[in-house]
Amino acid sequence: MAYDVVIIGGGPAGLAAGIYVKRAMLNALLIEKIGIGGQILITDLVENYPGFLETSGADLSRKFEQHALKFGLEIKSIVEVTGIEDRGEMKVVKTSEGDLDTKAVIIAAGTTPRKLGAKGELNFIGRGVSYCATCDGFFFREKVVVVVGGGDSAITEAIFLTKMAKKVIIVHRRDKLRAEKINQEHAFANPKISFAWDSVVEEIAGKQVVEKVMVRNVKTNELSEIKTDGVFIYVGLIPNTGFADVEKDEGGFIIANGKMETSVRGIFVAGDCRVTPLRQIATAVGDGAIAAVSAEKYLEGI
Ligand SMILES: Cc1cc2nc3c(=O)[nH]c(=O)nc-3n(C[C@H](O)[C@H](O)[C@H](O)COP(=O)(O)OP(=O)(O)OC[C@H]3O[C@@H](n4cnc5c(N)ncnc54)[C@H](O)[C@@H]3O)c2cc1C
Repeated sequence: MAYDVVIIGGGPAGLAAGIYVKRAMLNALLIEKIGIGGQILITDLVENYPGFLETSGADLSRKFEQHALKFGLEIKSIVEVTGIEDRGEMKVVKTSEGDLDTKAVIIAAGTTPRKLGAKGELNFIGRGVSYCATCDGFFFREKVVVVVGGGDSAITEAIFLTKMAKKVIIVHRRDKLRAEKINQEHAFANPKISFAWDSVVEEIAGKQVVEKVMVRNVKTNELSEIKTDGVFIYVGLIPNTGFADVEKDEGGFIIANGKMETSVRGIFVAGDCRVTPLRQIATAVGDGAIAAVSAEKYLEGI
């Protein structure tokens, strides 16, 4: 039996799309390779999603999932999509558990944190190097940590880490932050946070665990050492789009029009994995709704 729509990814974009396609009475399946919720599962505090003054990412993702299940969305977890074959009006979604036939596809596969590329980084993953403060912050109680990056993820996670760590040093390659102004204000006002401006981490070093980072000032070229117990890295995102043969930008983000239509008829995209000026829960959810309605209209026409 062929599905009307297969949704790839169980983050905010995929779950929002799921709610809308089910309310359109479509026969839909959502496939998620890890756990339902996407990146918000690893977000401690969300305070910019309308209607929720303050919530945890885990709570919000549970609510999204319950909402999609209420309308009968079929979900397959721990299944990875490895390819999409376009056969015109029929698509074949290739997964770790076999092939699935569907008339339309919504790609909502999100992103993966970008590696820093510093010497020692890969050796110390799980031994002081982390990409998730919510997951690992607990291990750094009363310790010193370095956070690398200057965007919203870096700044909000640095603020979160001050709940456990005794000191948080933000290393940023520019002399100003990119984060929302309100997040910047909170960081500047936090007595536990200090900044190493115009600086890049060149090396992460230690014996068994992280003990220090070597930091280069990009203006003076001076190399200095910061003693630290942990390094949290937030330096950008890589889209999870390798399995999709649709038009992308040079970074691998999928190009779509305002209806979330990709370059291939019947394949739609939503959320962080597309070219978009803002990668947030609110925008991902909006994309998911549009992609679902566009898929519904497309199905009416074939
Ligand atoms: C540390 C951090 C803090 C953040 N804080 C906030 C915040 O406070 N407010 C806010 O609005 N936004 C925040 N964001 C951003 C927000 O989490 C994202 O914008 C949002 O999760 C994007 O939703 P998405 O559904 O597009 O992608 P994702 O949430 O990334 O979900 C994509 C899902 O697709 C799955 N997937 C990927 N590839 C495959 C495949 N091949 N097969 C099957 N499944 C696959 C993934 O496992 C994942 O579950 C934060 C992000 C981070 C990293």
